Amino acid sequence: MRNENSLSQTIETLLEHNRTFVAERAYERYRTDKYPDKKLCIVTCMDTRLVELLPAALGLKNGDAKIIKVAGAEVSHPFGSVMRSLLIAVCELGVEDIMIVAHSSCGAQHMDGSSMVKAMEDLGVEEDRIKLAQHCGVDFDRWLAGFGDAEKAVRESVSMVREHPVMPPNVRVTGWIMDSETGEITPVHC
Ligand SMILES: [Zn+2]
Repeated sequence: MRNENSLSQTIETLLEHNRTFVAERAYERYRTDKYPDKKLCIVTCMDTRLVELLPAALGLKNGDAKIIKVAGAEVSHPFGSVMRSLLIAVCELGVEDIMIVAHSSCGAQHMDGSSMVKAMEDLGVEEDRIKLAQHCGVDFDRWLAGFGDAEKAVRESVSMVREHPVMPPNVRVTGWIMDSETGEITPVHC
């Protein structure tokens, strides 16, 4: 049974905040447009430690950059949703710099498919559904594998974007690792 009919306390709290935010016109200080002022797009991890740390550590404010967040900051498919977003950022929104920013002690580093399948089962996904997905060609061990070596994963993502057949050649693509504690960013030579 899916739990879809009631909002969680967390969401209720967010909605309450939202009503006040709008009523007090707190949005005014965030006003900008859809074009990134720094012509920059960052692909980084969904990690909660980076929510405020990453923009603060790089001096970014609202309107400066497109930020795409995925587990592990990986660009793992040449025609998947991350590449699609990057092409939109470049071709429609004027981005000229792409940074791939992984980070230390990432939760996606040591994932493995079989333990995640076990977690799905523990959370109530029926075995038949898992088997059906496998039958349809989903290789959970491959799809849900951790990226292992962070620098290697960044290099692979950088080369995926840099060498993409339809990525315009004016775009600079660079790779980085951020310290999840201090925000210090170090380059990955690609
Ligand atoms: Zn991460």
